[in-house]
Amino acid sequence: MTSLNGPGDPHSRLDALRTVTMQRAASLVRGFDSIVKATSDVATDDEHDPEGNTIAWERQQIAALLDETRTTLTDIDAAEQRLDDGVYGTCTICGLKITSERLDALPATPSCVGCAS
Ligand SMILES: [Zn+2]
Repeated sequence: MTSLNGPGDPHSRLDALRTVTMQRAASLVRGFDSIVKATSDVATDDEHDPEGNTIAWERQQIAALLDETRTTLTDIDAAEQRLDDGVYGTCTICGLKITSERLDALPATPSCVGCAS
């Protein structure tokens, strides 16, 4: 690590994003666990109990959000690999440079605006 690594460099930004994402995942898992626990405490009949349906829906929402955080973590790993390879900031699809505005907003993005849309 050199003195070039200021707060605005990609490594720091990816590290920060990873920390936030892992905290988010941890709190989602806690939420998931508490719902599972609440469900098993009461012998609910999922098919006829409206409460059971709500719980099932909440679990689905949390599972979807957890999937999202996993995808983000995978993107971060890939972005760090691209940093090591010296190709960070280059679109993995078309090979053009990704704008710095986009990288500021989405430091782990693998593609440019054109390819992402
Ligand atoms: Zn592209």
